[in-house]
Amino acid sequence: MENSVVTFVEDGKRTILVADDELINREILSEMLKDEYNVLTAEDGEEAYEIVKNNSTTISLILLDLIMPRMGGLELLSLIKNKDKLSGIPVIVLTTDQESEVVSLNTGASDFIPKPYPQPDVVKARVRKSIELSEERQIISGTQNDPMTGLFTGEYFYEYAERFDKYHPDVQMDAIVLGINNYQVVHERYGKQKCIELLHHIADGIRSQYPENECILCHKDVDVFFIYCHHIDSHEGRLQKIAEAVNLECSGIRMAMGIYSCVDKNIDISKRFVRARLAYDKLQGNYHNETAYFDDDILNKILFEERLCGDFQKAIKEEQFKVFFQPKFGITGDEPQIAGAEALVRWFHPELNLISPGLFIPLFESNGLIYKLDDYIWHKTCAQIRKWREQYDRKIPVSVNISRVEMHDPNLSNRLIRIVEENGIEISDLHLEITESAYVSDSSVIIERVEDLRRKGFFIEMDDFGSGYSSLNMIGDLPIDALKLDMQFLRNAFNKRNMKIIDIVLEIARCLEVPAIAEGVETEEQYLKLKESGCAIIQGYYFSKPIPADEFEKYYKD
Ligand code: C2E
Ligand code: MG
Ligand code: MG
Repeated sequence: MENSVVTFVEDGKRTILVADDELINREILSEMLKDEYNVLTAEDGEEAYEIVKNNSTTISLILLDLIMPRMGGLELLSLIKNKDKLSGIPVIVLTTDQESEVVSLNTGASDFIPKPYPQPDVVKARVRKSIELSEERQIISGTQNDPMTGLFTGEYFYEYAERFDKYHPDVQMDAIVLGINNYQVVHERYGKQKCIELLHHIADGIRSQYPENECILCHKDVDVFFIYCHHIDSHEGRLQKIAEAVNLECSGIRMAMGIYSCVDKNIDISKRFVRARLAYDKLQGNYHNETAYFDDDILNKILFEERLCGDFQKAIKEEQFKVFFQPKFGITGDEPQIAGAEALVRWFHPELNLISPGLFIPLFESNGLIYKLDDYIWHKTCAQIRKWREQYDRKIPVSVNISRVEMHDPNLSNRLIRIVEENGIEISDLHLEITESAYVSDSSVIIERVEDLRRKGFFIEMDDFGSGYSSLNMIGDLPIDALKLDMQFLRNAFNKRNMKIIDIVLEIARCLEVPAIAEGVETEEQYLKLKESGCAIIQGYYFSKPIPADEFEKYYKD
């Protein structure tokens, strides 16, 4: 088989586990098999299970006695066959009666050997046959999954890579993700059939540079390949050769390579490729064939993010997340008037100190923790609104941010209404800031969801308007009650042309008949300019930074 890297052999020997509670049986079998195999032994089912779990990638076969203390053979057999990682290991059952042979075969045994044992040659032949069959089956189903390139698919790749490590623990390895950077473009230009040929060529190119007798290769996703190979100092030359061969076929293809060099073998094999992938991702959108290495910066980022995720539950429990409030001021009258506030989360981490939401919100959006965090923040905010309402005879609406991820939750409005009701406030007390980019992905569903929220009485502010996902072509139909200009408008407003742009955005708000809110106002000059242009509300450091609830109370007292 061309693509089979046989790495399950140690010193030319495969490993077999003999599980039998009788010493004499273990000794007889070990004696018969020890020349051809490494033989491990277990005295009972539980011990056997431990050994199998710890050697899942190296055990080629189990010889299993049915009657053993602690855990019987059949129970163990069914445990093994129901565990993904172990189910591929063939098991030969050692039996005394025919009835249990049938049960064993039905439970997943590949063969049986009767007791007392037949001649050593017979035992060895059955053992050999079971191992061969199982290995062939694995390899065939591996190639069946990727008939195009003949390379391993993900699961098998990881398995072989692990086996390789097991037998070559001291060899330094590199994990590589290789892909076509502009696959979409290539697909558009050359069509599907040509792309299939192309992937074929890439696979051949990879094979020629990374020979399969020393590397393990995988066709992971459509345009992505994994390579696990002996460490070399530079892969640039090899990438160049692959790219040249491929570009002879179709021109304009850009290949990229993310490399995790000298992998840490203490971390999971799939995680090593996550690291290579992170390096690869840095190359997105580059215009040359390029390589990038996983480095300390990426590592520190991952470690930091893992830390944040790991600490999250505790942080919620210990109330390390605090809601800060930033006032919004109406500026249409003579004097600026408090018009509302935005609730913004802060994480007071006991060891990392203050962490800004810019660091953890995108992370929690990517792994789903955002639901829990938002729930928490909405609760705290509503509770605070209630407290102020009881204390002061004045209503100041407070807005909370709704993550774009939340917009995909069909249950969103129910969750919000429940929180509002539980805290005894009214829907009109709570404004919702929904970022512009949320509207653009899957817009019809999102728009329907926002409309639903509005029908139920929520006031909707479109956040970060103009931040680049521009929804100009649909803004006229969007259900919104206020437009919050992205901060970048002000950052850029240092010349006449950019000032004019702000006027245009304010004009859009007027057309929509909704108030415009400018955030990020830091200077008097900006404030005056916005006032002159007819902006209704402003928010920014010029008036106040986001502040804790007790400080914010001054706006109620004034
Ligand atoms: P955003 O909703 O656009 O919030 C405005 C950000 O601008 C806040 O950053 C605020 O502190 C900052 N800011 C306000 N005035 C000024 C100013 O004059 N100058 C400058 N340079 N910045 C100003 P923050 O608090 O770091 O929040 C960043 C983003 O994180 C927010 O952007 C929002 O998208 C998100 N976020 C914050 N709190 C929450 C939350 O509780 N839930 C969710 N889902 N997202 C949140
Ligand atoms: Mg906001
Ligand atoms: Mg904003």
